[in-house]
Amino acid sequence: MTADAASRAAIIPIATESPSRVRAMPPALADMPASLLDRRQRPLQDLRISVTDRCNFRCPYCMPRATFGKHHQFLPHEALLSFEEITRAAHAALSLGVRKLRLTGGEPLLRKDLPTLVSQLAALKTLEGSAPEIALTTNGVLLSRQAQALKDAGLQRVTVSLDGLDQAIFARMSDSGLHVSDVLAGIEAAQRAGLSPIKVNTVVQKGVNDDQVVSLARHFRGTGVELRFIEFMDVGQSNHWELDQVIPSEEVRQRIAVHWPLLPASTPRAADTAERWVYADGAGSVGFVSSVTRAFCSDCTRLRLSTDGRLYTCLFATRGHDLRALLRDERVGDEELRLRLAALWQARDDRYSELRQVVDSVPEPGRVEMSYIGG
Ligand code: SAM
Ligand code: SF4
Ligand code: SF4
Repeated sequence: MTADAASRAAIIPIATESPSRVRAMPPALADMPASLLDRRQRPLQDLRISVTDRCNFRCPYCMPRATFGKHHQFLPHEALLSFEEITRAAHAALSLGVRKLRLTGGEPLLRKDLPTLVSQLAALKTLEGSAPEIALTTNGVLLSRQAQALKDAGLQRVTVSLDGLDQAIFARMSDSGLHVSDVLAGIEAAQRAGLSPIKVNTVVQKGVNDDQVVSLARHFRGTGVELRFIEFMDVGQSNHWELDQVIPSEEVRQRIAVHWPLLPASTPRAADTAERWVYADGAGSVGFVSSVTRAFCSDCTRLRLSTDGRLYTCLFATRGHDLRALLRDERVGDEELRLRLAALWQARDDRYSELRQVVDSVPEPGRVEMSYIGG
């Protein structure tokens, strides 16, 4: 399989195998409560939208240069979903119970005119009639110049990825010539613009950036920014993941607690799957996303939409469902789109991380790359 094929995995049409069953779904779909359940009784609540497969970083754990180098073929412009197509897909998802939309990538701030998309999404409504929550995950380098425009367009919250404060380690983790000071400036600009809450995601890789844990905690304590440490995951096929490169969240937490005692937060697990702890001295909270050591599949309410319009029901999926074909088929109206989406969610049975806990690693040729569907 070529790198490009590997990054996009297999594609299947949505529900073409049993359209009659789809159409025979409960006639009361329009009145469906805000909980469309999958086969494991998990409601559909979040849609993550990848707006570009390109990035100005080459984090070795996500887009290693060996795979995503000079010769990597990114998606051509016409393959990308347009803003109108993304908005229509989001509208269908919101009508089925989604409340949160998160823009991601690749690096989402590389997508031209992103505030225009944000304003289109902000005009949509959830099933309850309120505005959807709109968030962004970014590496932050371009954030300082876009934060205010994004906020004005309706963006509410931002998560910035930052794997170290030391410039040399940051350069190694991002495999870029870019500067940690630009990311910090982006976080400050987001604070000034009133994007709130701001979270910072740090992937911890043993022997590469784990010595940054304490300095990051020191830097963000007391600033109102919630730092979250993420266990290095075996996502995709190109990052040469090994279990021994993972530092369990529990160990990261203990390293912080040696300096600043931590107490379990009263809301121990946020909807975003981080386990939250608070500093005993009142300097805020810190989160841990333990996808490797404490799988949270039973709480996973996320659907992912790739840059070119494929739907993935799991980060570790090997098959994407071709929504773009439906969006570009003029015979498919909004109601049919929504029925197909509902059937897709109802058929969902994914729980990759839980299975991996049982057998250490689940080899899956064709697993989709993180930069293609967003984290
Ligand atoms: N480029 C943006 C960024 O880095 O924030 C958005 C896309 S990135 C794929 C989303 C998140 O996925 C980032 O926080 C990143 O650290 C995380 N991520 C990527 N590869 C990962 C891996 N192998 N293990 C854990 N987290 C990973
Ligand atoms: Fe780019 Fe984000 Fe992946 Fe790093 S984690 S390569 S910044 S998409
Ligand atoms: Fe959700 Fe799949 Fe991750 Fe489990 S492995 S939490 S189902 S994305």
